[in-house]
Amino acid sequence: MIFFYFQVKSTTRVQRVAAHSHVKGLGLHPETQEALPKASGFVGQMKARTSAGVIVDLVKMKNFAGRAVLFAGPPGTGKTAIALAMAQELGDKLPFCPMVASEVFSNEVKKTEVLMENFRRAIGLRIKEKKEVYEGEVTELTPVEAEPLAATYGKTISHLLLGLKTCKGSKQLKLDPTIYDSILKQRIEIGDVIYIEANSGAAKRVGRCDAYASEFDLEADEFVPLPKGDVHKTKEVVQDVTLHDLDVANARPQGQRGDVSSIVGQLLKPKKTEITDRLRAEINKVVNEYIDQGIAELMPGVLFIDEVHLLDLECFTYLHRALESSMSPIVVFATNRGISVVRGTEEESPHGIPRDLLDRLLIIVTEKYSRENIREIVTIRSEAENVKLESKALDMLADIGARSSMRYVTQLLTPAKLIAHLNGKESVSETDVEEASHLFIDAKTSAASARIANQQAMDTS
Ligand code: ATP
Repeated sequence: MIFFYFQVKSTTRVQRVAAHSHVKGLGLHPETQEALPKASGFVGQMKARTSAGVIVDLVKMKNFAGRAVLFAGPPGTGKTAIALAMAQELGDKLPFCPMVASEVFSNEVKKTEVLMENFRRAIGLRIKEKKEVYEGEVTELTPVEAEPLAATYGKTISHLLLGLKTCKGSKQLKLDPTIYDSILKQRIEIGDVIYIEANSGAAKRVGRCDAYASEFDLEADEFVPLPKGDVHKTKEVVQDVTLHDLDVANARPQGQRGDVSSIVGQLLKPKKTEITDRLRAEINKVVNEYIDQGIAELMPGVLFIDEVHLLDLECFTYLHRALESSMSPIVVFATNRGISVVRGTEEESPHGIPRDLLDRLLIIVTEKYSRENIREIVTIRSEAENVKLESKALDMLADIGARSSMRYVTQLLTPAKLIAHLNGKESVSETDVEEASHLFIDAKTSAASARIANQQAMDTS
């Protein structure tokens, strides 16, 4: 028997965190709160991790308003990984929104708009609602009932449907295509019991019975279905969304203004939604009301802005102001630059960040890795990526990493695995790594060959 529960789907974007799937937290000692040499997927970088832990504590004590963190260190030294771990330490399901500063420069969207959108992606809202759900059993339809559905949705659906018709109050759901889609995808069978959120108007996300049970704080086995058609009284249902999810869900598709040009525009362009400042202000107002009523809780996550030296003065001014807002995420910047010109000005400043903003930052330095650290990190990454490495291959990767960079060697893992497979092997040997490193050169080698090519061009001209 399968239980289904339909709920709001968060549209939080698929985040660029796959490269850090091995990271499970900051890896701190539970009592001293100092970083352990090897824990939670982390190796080394102990000072930076301990400092990040202090910031997590400050945030938890609500002592961090209006401030931000800056990670300064060479590429591939774990700045993003530590920022992600901070989000994990701050709480389960807190949003982590990574972006690269260069994303703000687009011909179509204003710089501050990009920043605002990412700000809102990084602010979570936990909504607690009391809900009723209806139960229904999946039954076979009579041919008369099945025919119109089969015409629309295909044969399979007509055989499987549908407890919904026996659910109290769920008539309006009966012909909702999303339900049929969900049922098809989940392969519901006759005899299965499903639950539909009362008054939901449309089926949203389909979850399995264990997800359903956990929503109600029950073990899956403990869950006893009610007799057909009964109303099931729920406990509290908790939904995690971001402010950006709410913006998108409430935005009107562009071009629905009834004029011909906009219809043409819709045909030519992919459908986009229009999120205006006014809409955001309205959403903020409702969110604040929910917070006041105790229905919702604000969950500020982490906005991570890499290569922050690429932002210009307008962006920095905007960020400075946004940090003051009561609805601000924890902003974490990262850079590998020293003294640089602040873009949009002629002034130089540490890390290319205006000095007044710099004053508000807590700066954490990440250091280059030793060969031994690289060896250990490659071991962890190879396990996460399911790459079997022979010990000599691992040694070679550590040597290459020490000469080039950590990032380069972790990127060599997949090509090396592919080469090994092409050679009919399960595990990666020294020669596979060597071959991969000849095919794809590292950034230092690439820069050196570019310099030589430039020199040769100058010599011949
Ligand atoms: P960049 O400046 O180029 O953006 P970065 O400093 O943000 O680089 P990351 O992207 O965090 O570096 O690290 C590169 C890879 O190495 C990632 O897969 C990351 O999870 C892993 N990594 C980095 N440092 C560590 C560490 N100390 N322990 C375990 N894994 C690490």
